[in-house]
Amino acid sequence: MIQLVKGTKDIYGVEVKAWQKIEEKMRRICETFGIGEIRTPAFEFTELFVRGVGETTDIVQKEMYTFTDDGDRSLTLRPEGTAGAVRAYIEHGMHNQAQPTKLYYISPTFRCENTQAGRQRQFHQFGVEMLGSYSAAQDAEAISVAATLLKEMGVHGVELRMNSLGCPECRSRYNKELRHFIGANLDKLCPTCKERFEKNPLRVLDCKEESCQAVIADAPSVLDCLDEECTAHFQKVQDILTEMGIPFTIDPKIVRGLDYYTRTVFEFVSDGLTVCGGGRYDMLVEECGGKPTGAVGFGLGIERLMMILEKQNGALVDNPQRDVYIGSMGETGLLKAQGLTLALRKDGIRADCDTVERSVKAQMKYANKIGAKYAVILGESELESGQVELKEMETGEKEQIALQDLQTILESKLKA
Ligand code: ATP
Ligand code: MG
Repeated sequence: MIQLVKGTKDIYGVEVKAWQKIEEKMRRICETFGIGEIRTPAFEFTELFVRGVGETTDIVQKEMYTFTDDGDRSLTLRPEGTAGAVRAYIEHGMHNQAQPTKLYYISPTFRCENTQAGRQRQFHQFGVEMLGSYSAAQDAEAISVAATLLKEMGVHGVELRMNSLGCPECRSRYNKELRHFIGANLDKLCPTCKERFEKNPLRVLDCKEESCQAVIADAPSVLDCLDEECTAHFQKVQDILTEMGIPFTIDPKIVRGLDYYTRTVFEFVSDGLTVCGGGRYDMLVEECGGKPTGAVGFGLGIERLMMILEKQNGALVDNPQRDVYIGSMGETGLLKAQGLTLALRKDGIRADCDTVERSVKAQMKYANKIGAKYAVILGESELESGQVELKEMETGEKEQIALQDLQTILESKLKA
């Protein structure tokens, strides 16, 4: 028996129903926000992610599924959604349409990480990208999509944390200060951070090693290094969120795991688990070969959202529902039941019938199991007389009706 790969999951049964509901909510919310769906390929040229996500990030350094195809090209399975969306934005000249361009995706995402609760190798992201604006209003709009979704899902105790990394100038100022601070504590850092220290000291703030966390606890705040414009931008984001009634806290330690962020970065955290992370990425479109374009977006992990919901609402319970079960007895009964069932289905009624050739008793047991609301049995005598007994499964109540009226009667009962 070949089993599934570590860090992957089959989603089926009651769980897939919950997924469908969430996806429906995401699509509906995006519709109200004027965000159109984009479906990009599951793999891209490796270079896109190296450039887009950043060479010093965990993702690029150790988490990518990279392979060489028969043309000796290096390809990588999507480890995040933004780079692909940005590539598509440039490639199809979306900047020529009315701006901003607002895109969303719900897609499998691949990272070769150590698996543990909330950390898989294939997981799913609901992502939103808004391209074509430098305004703080765009940051707030993006954040409000995630806030709306989490609220509609009934997730409670989720906290929005924000920070600003400033523009590249502010950032290089801060990097200098940070390098100075960390340099004095270099011996206490993990080996990866010792390497990062030179290239990108900001990454140390995002390290999950306890030793590194202890060092950076007293690190200088990036917010003290922001210039006037970046400070004003961040303030405006906060003012708009307040106007929108979306609560938040400021956390100067948030840098997020991707190198492309500028100015606003944010995450939604529930019980210490980050369910959604995002921010502004004003340099990325240019970095990927497009014109300078302001942009902001986020990625929300659907498995993590599921984990939080299950923790808050308890395990999912299945209550299957079918409208009607068309049972049968004998050869002619079986034949007629198949035809009738398809006719009902064509009319939108969730009908089922016997396709296993079970006994009538076993059929009724089955009808119960699949949650049929009504059932009839078609046998010789019913077909001859044209009369059937319509049984309401829950109450056991029976009603004699003409077979030819079955559909109309069912329709009116189901509507009620
Ligand atoms: P973390 O700090 O938890 O590693 P990250 O910074 O790598 O997160 P992002 O790259 O911003 O996360 O991805 C956005 C969201 O995708 C996360 O907030 C999380 O919900 C989800 N996510 C990221 N990695 C995984 C994973 N390996 N398994 C499941 N969900 C994930
Ligand atoms: Mg990560």
